[in-house]
Amino acid sequence: MNFRTIQPMRYALAAVAAMLFCTALPAAAQSPKQIQAALDSALTRFKNVREGANADYIPALARVDPNIFGIALVTPNGKVYTAGDVTSQVSIQSISKVFTMARVIEDLGPNSIVERIGVDATGMRFNSIVSVEFSQKALGGPEINPLVNAGAITATSMVPGATRDEVWKRILDFHSDFAGRPLTVDKEVFDSEAATNQRNQAIGSLMYAYGFIKDKPAQATDIYTEQCAISVNARDLATMAGTLANAGRNPVTGKQVMKAQNVPGVLAVMATAGLYDDSGKWLYRTGLPAKSGVGGGIIAVSPGKFGIAVIAPPLDAAGNSVKAQLAIESVSNALGGNPYAPQVSGKR
Ligand code: GLU
Repeated sequence: MNFRTIQPMRYALAAVAAMLFCTALPAAAQSPKQIQAALDSALTRFKNVREGANADYIPALARVDPNIFGIALVTPNGKVYTAGDVTSQVSIQSISKVFTMARVIEDLGPNSIVERIGVDATGMRFNSIVSVEFSQKALGGPEINPLVNAGAITATSMVPGATRDEVWKRILDFHSDFAGRPLTVDKEVFDSEAATNQRNQAIGSLMYAYGFIKDKPAQATDIYTEQCAISVNARDLATMAGTLANAGRNPVTGKQVMKAQNVPGVLAVMATAGLYDDSGKWLYRTGLPAKSGVGGGIIAVSPGKFGIAVIAPPLDAAGNSVKAQLAIESVSNALGGNPYAPQVSGKR
């Protein structure tokens, strides 16, 4: 068979594949019953998965119940779907990095994080010090992003406020607006991480030494540690994701939490670096901008369709919740959530 005969066959196969893909309706076109069935089915399929282990480098996280498993999904019309345990709370951890980055973009503009932190994948661990070394100004400037620790601590340092309290309130209020209720901090987790976060303190100092953090690096690391200890349940996280899916307007409370035009940049960084060293694999499988945290939560966003969150503490080797990845991928596939799925428009 030569190239000329293979080529038309390829097109025919691609057309069939596209037609099969397109039978998945957009979530908005699906009935509440179908959406609920997608969540229930994921819960049943994955509840007995036993792989993974709680994070233990923060001592308090090792003590969290590993059996918590809750799925929540919020649509742009404000409907909340849940399955499993959506009332148990865990610490938000790295998922907070998304919202502090968004705060900085709102306050200082989209270029602020590009110039001071970068929006590139580091290809290194989330708490890498080597990535900071490669980011020195002499080597061309910042090549990290606000979702790894060095970038996140820098983002926290950029939040406006004359005192620690002012900066903290600005961050906590913003998270609460996304969740649609006043959030609080898990003091045990905060104290536990504050007592053991010498590596993050070193990263904060290094970012200050290299001029990325302008002032008070110790305060920035301390506030960053506190933001990671904010308590959330799966419903809170799904509402936060749902707000990003709904152009920055909380679909449950109706409050415009951030400017619609700033949302795509936030989603782009999540797509680039949301799931640690497995961000590429995740994007390849699901197409969804997402962010995970070592507390066991993952949020994912299908723009205009839904925000979804799952909490299940045991993590894989990359640091991502095993069950949360499986459940989000399953629900999103059932609801046609992949933004890169073939879109047919115009005459064919
Ligand atoms: N507070 C954690 C740390 O800085 C967050 C890590 C994570 O969730 O990725 O190590």
